[in-house]
Formats: sequence, structure tokens, C-alpha cells
Amino acid sequence: MAEITDDVRRRIMQANKSKDTKPELDIRRMLHAMGARFRLHRKDLPGKPDIVLPGRKLCIFVNGCFWHQHQGCYLASKPKTNSKYWSEKFKANKLRDKRNEHDLRDMGWRVEVIWECELDNPAKLQNRLEKLL
Ligand SMILES: [Zn+2]
Repeated sequence: MAEITDDVRRRIMQANKSKDTKPELDIRRMLHAMGARFRLHRKDLPGKPDIVLPGRKLCIFVNGCFWHQHQGCYLASKPKTNSKYWSEKFKANKLRDKRNEHDLRDMGWRVEVIWECELDNPAKLQNRLEKLL
């Protein structure tokens, strides 16, 4: 494999650790403080949503900005090496995200995506979560 920067490598490692990422833990803590009841990584639902609030028919995906290529985001820079490999990988990820979202909506769920970079502004995110609930 061609060399990649330490920064990119770090994000890949984080993305691979798909469960219980730092953003996920932060969001769970916020929801918990709001008294929300939720379940985690429900395998019986499309895409195994990170956080599921069954009472409110709400699924939340916590997306890493690099891995899910958050558009226009400072965390989502494309690697300069192996660009073909990465663009195919990202395209597949995006397609899969879309399909899962679509399937969940078909099943009557609300679907929300929270991006990793939204944790940069906890007050704003808190506000958003309150509105969702
Ligand atoms: Zn982002």
C-alpha cells in the first residue's frame, strides 16, 4: 500500500473501530442526561443504527466525517494517494448509507445522521438532540 499520512491513518483506525466511538459515547451521554431511553447497534435493523430510540421510532447514525465523506467538512479530505481505491470505497459507503436510510424509512422509522464534527459545538448539538426528542 502506498504511504498515507499519520492523520489519515489515525482516522481510518478510528473508523474501523465502528462501535463505541468517542462521538457516539458523547451523544449517548447527552441523550441519557435528557432522560431518553435507547438501545445500541440493533442488529435486526438495516445498517445497525448506532442509537435506536424505540419509543420515538427514531434511529440515529453517528457518522465519522472521513469514512462517510461528510460533504464540505474539514475532516473529510480525500487521501491523495491510492485515490482510485478510496473513491470506490467512499462511493460504496455512501450507497450503503442511502440504502439503509431508505429501508428504515420504509419501515416507519425516523432517521437522523449526526456527524462527528457536530461534536465541535456541544451546545448546538444538545439543542438539536432536544428538538429530535
Ligand atoms: Zn463533518
